[in-house]
Amino acid sequence: MNDRGWIERANCRGGDPDVFFVRGTTHARAALRLCQDCPVQEPCLEYALEQEIDFGVWGGLTERQRRSLQRRRLARAG
Ligand code: SF4
Repeated sequence: MNDRGWIERANCRGGDPDVFFVRGTTHARAALRLCQDCPVQEPCLEYALEQEIDFGVWGGLTERQRRSLQRRRLARAG
């Protein structure tokens, strides 16, 4: 089970969630900028991967980038 205490330190906490739930990298730029120096980028990303969240920007990656990362991880795991 993922400890969600990291949410308290998220750069996006209290912000407009619509910024994060857009399709495509171009539209996601504002969210990706916020993620860039977010202190909880790693747990945020791992949470999204564990929960198989297939929409929006999480952990500094769009859904497409997360799918690509997941494929690379699975390929490495064999
Ligand atoms: S990495 Fe991005 S989406 Fe995740 S908590 Fe930080 S600002 Fe929010």
